[in-house]
Amino acid sequence: MLLSRGFFPTLKETPAEAQIASHRLMLRAGLVRQTAAGIYAWLPLGLRVLDNIARIVREEQNRAGALELLMPTIQSADLWKRSGRYEDYGREMLRITDRHDRELLYGPTNEEMITDIFGQSVKSYRDLPRCLYHIQWKFRDEVRPRFGVMRGREFLMKDAYSFDLDYHAAVQSYRRMMLAYMRTFQRMGLKAIPMAADTGPIGGDLSHEFIILAPVGESAVFFDADFENTDWVNAHFDYDNTDDLATFYDQMTSLYAATEEKHDAAAWERVPPARRREGRGIEVGQIFYFGTKYTASMGVTVAGPDGAAVIPEMGSYGIGVSRLVGAVIEASHDEAGIIWPDAIAPFRAAILNLKQGDPACDAMCDRAHEALGDLALYDDRPERAGVKFNDADLLGHPWQIVIGPRGAAAGRVELKRRADGTREEVSLEDALARVRG
Ligand code: ATP
Ligand code: MG
Repeated sequence: MLLSRGFFPTLKETPAEAQIASHRLMLRAGLVRQTAAGIYAWLPLGLRVLDNIARIVREEQNRAGALELLMPTIQSADLWKRSGRYEDYGREMLRITDRHDRELLYGPTNEEMITDIFGQSVKSYRDLPRCLYHIQWKFRDEVRPRFGVMRGREFLMKDAYSFDLDYHAAVQSYRRMMLAYMRTFQRMGLKAIPMAADTGPIGGDLSHEFIILAPVGESAVFFDADFENTDWVNAHFDYDNTDDLATFYDQMTSLYAATEEKHDAAAWERVPPARRREGRGIEVGQIFYFGTKYTASMGVTVAGPDGAAVIPEMGSYGIGVSRLVGAVIEASHDEAGIIWPDAIAPFRAAILNLKQGDPACDAMCDRAHEALGDLALYDDRPERAGVKFNDADLLGHPWQIVIGPRGAAAGRVELKRRADGTREEVSLEDALARVRG
């Protein structure tokens, strides 16, 4: 893509309202613009990142056997009255009345709706287990929206819902999702730790939050330093194998890790002092097992193997897709700007033409641009080199292909890796191969 024809409005000044690095950088790099308190428009660069994150989430949900659907953002209050949560949910719920005086709401989550959809369609134990998910905007009227997209009022969430015949099967669903989450976050270049957590307004008995360590995190966390750096993506755990899931789950839960609300001083004492770590973390996902809370209250049953009615067991599983954009930047930036992990970068490379109008420079840049197509953002503006360098660092492309007149004449480019700042002089072909990966 040509930068000169794009819409990448960067800011020179640091916006005064932004308290943390990711919020500042998202505004400065032109990823989002706030349109009302806690509500953001996603500009082209930000949208590409959001889409990349959603794609990884989707691929790992599908790989774990979950099925994608799409439910609406607006829900009927009647659904929530059936589960009893309409009053309980409180002022975080944005309540709306339509022209016929019917009560509606902008969904903060979808347990009721999915339970209703599922209950209307599924009648037999043979249709279980099922896990359904969607990636959809939510609205929660947070008292204090802050930190940009990290605590917005409107935000994008992946929420999955599992339906199983009994407790044992529901536990398998829970473990499967936990594995899918570890794979998902690893692919985004994040180290997430599952921590025992409170269930809050979703309810239930078993829950884990997935926490990214960061000083600006809102949760205080306690964990064992031995939490391993395991390669979950390539680990041979089969989603359909109960033993694999048990091994995985034991590995996940044998070491101490808890958020403040679930912190257990006695268990903490048993962690060797040298391994105790306290810090702050950002919650990027949470999973819940809550049994028959919604199916029972909403009257959903299926015919079991012996014909008797069975109330399906459920769990729900959320990932903060839009929050992750901020969380990734918190985990990966420096003084100069964002450092995108390859997997979610909006562009894999910037092509920097240091002398626009120089025939050799222009020709080589055009070749690079044609070869990389949508993988690269070609800075073809008639700007000084310094401006282009600064913008490329701010926008955080994993690679910069720097093309100046001397190099172009000799068929060479400078290839810079944003993450560690290393620069190499290579042929254009080598640079393209490296960028393509
Ligand atoms: P928090 O404790 O941060 O308010 P939550 O526990 O209420 O979040 P969940 O119901 O677990 O949120 O929602 C699933 C995921 O959605 C969270 O793990 C988080 O990543 C994301 N999320 C929740 N609230 C927001 C928000 N206001 N802005 C952006 N993302 C959010
Ligand atoms: Mg949560």
